[in-house]
Amino acid sequence: MTAPGHRRMATLLQELNVLRAQAAAPEASAEQRVLAHRDATYLAIDLKDLAVAMEQALLCVRVAHSTDDAPLQVKAHVTLGLALMEVFDDQGAQREFATAQALAEEAGDARGVALVAVNASHHELERRNYRRAARYLEDFTTSPYQAALRRPDARSLRQTFYINVVVAIAELLMAGDLSPVDVPRNEAYLQEAAAEVARWYRREGPQMPPQDAAAVLDALTRHALWSGDLGAAMIMANDHVRITQDASLPVLYGRALLDRSRVHACTGDLIGAMRDADHAVRYFEGTVAGLWAVRSRETLAAAYARAGRYREAFETQLAVTRRVEELYRDYHQQRALVSQVEQQAREAEVRAHALSEAALRDPLTGAPNRTVAMQVLHRLYDRAQRGQPSAIALLDLDRFKGVNDTHGHLVGDAVLIETVRLLRSALSEHELLARLGGEEFIVIFPEMAIEAAAERCAHLRDTLHRASWDAVAPGLGISGSFGVAALDGGRDITGTLRAADRALYEAKAAGRNRVVTAAGVA
Ligand code: GH3
Ligand code: MG
Ligand code: MG
Repeated sequence: MTAPGHRRMATLLQELNVLRAQAAAPEASAEQRVLAHRDATYLAIDLKDLAVAMEQALLCVRVAHSTDDAPLQVKAHVTLGLALMEVFDDQGAQREFATAQALAEEAGDARGVALVAVNASHHELERRNYRRAARYLEDFTTSPYQAALRRPDARSLRQTFYINVVVAIAELLMAGDLSPVDVPRNEAYLQEAAAEVARWYRREGPQMPPQDAAAVLDALTRHALWSGDLGAAMIMANDHVRITQDASLPVLYGRALLDRSRVHACTGDLIGAMRDADHAVRYFEGTVAGLWAVRSRETLAAAYARAGRYREAFETQLAVTRRVEELYRDYHQQRALVSQVEQQAREAEVRAHALSEAALRDPLTGAPNRTVAMQVLHRLYDRAQRGQPSAIALLDLDRFKGVNDTHGHLVGDAVLIETVRLLRSALSEHELLARLGGEEFIVIFPEMAIEAAAERCAHLRDTLHRASWDAVAPGLGISGSFGVAALDGGRDITGTLRAADRALYEAKAAGRNRVVTAAGVA
């Protein structure tokens, strides 16, 4: 690679890190994060850092599914499909494209359907499945969604679509793979698509990023070969090589050499064909693009055979076999790496979930903590203001310091744990017990009148008092005092807590082991 190439590579790596940081930024919206993960995936693919590409694509899907935004989810599944294609998980890629298509159709997201058609056909073209690619493209063209491509904001999608049409149809026609009845219609469509791509290239060619220019020239070269305009094919193949030479993106330059080798072969310049194919072989051996190294060797072997150099053709073909074996091994190693990335992503999700759970629980007793109680109170306060009052009770264990002093702190801990267990089994599923701290708890009775709540508290008080605590410490007895207050919209949450606290204080003063409502003793 040339020095400017290295510089460009460094810039791209930097860009990749910026995108990864953007995707992880806590203040970013879900949409911004999905798009940053998507762009990071594509950049990592261009740089052939496939582990990062997989990681980013998986995150892209995960974040997209944290929203209800179907078009965003479509984009994410397409992104994952392309990443899977890069690691040769073709079934996985097809599965993602199918998921994306179903989501897009269900949501009536015509642009999403177009996006899938373009990328699924791209995938098939990369695998030289021209017929399947053509089917994707034709299905879309005849679908009710095809109007999406004509929208002004779908320009680059439309261009890629036409490029794919040119490649797929030109290859099918050149291979004689279409039934005669289909030929005229396909020829017409090919001409129309090629004209559109050529217009675009005339207008914007010099400003195009090398990836786009390479795709255009690749398509137009095939069109020229099909139409028999070998002069035009040669000019474009030369441009293709020149433009990609300094792009420093793996694969682009080697592919351009292979394209030109094919044009040389078509013009009968077998020496030129062998030179470019040989050059491509050596170029690809220096990159991680093993599949392309195999394809170049095949091209080279074919060029030797055409030139009658059968011994070299045979040896080159032999090298293909060896390289395929290597690739096969690499492929399995890569799969292992990808499953590792997937595994890590899953574990990270489980950890994140556990952490967010832990943040809402009291570690000693497992009861919900003050944060949860406050969230619930806020929700109930809103309802109370709309005329649906609730009730709360503060509970403080009696003479708990004495338990610690007599039996030790560990027994004190066991009492707290047992208290939570007993109260929980006495509470209904709508009622909430949370530990506020120390031996203080709150019980929340959603949409319950204060009198009923006081009765429920009397039951809780009995539950604690009547339980046998012998298993915790022989001879131990535990009781608690309750202060009940209504959350009725008449006063705010702080005011309600204060009223309950005053009632609790009264319960203590009146001898403990009792329930006092903010209105009177029960
Ligand atoms: P009262 O009936 O007036 O409520 O008396 P009390 O002894 O329960 O009240 P006080 O507030 O004086 O004592 C509370 C004690 O709770 C003091 C503290 O050591 C103990 N405590 C607070 N948190 C924990 C805990 O997590 N584990 C244990 N074992 N003790 C705790
Ligand atoms: Mg206390
Ligand atoms: Mg106490």
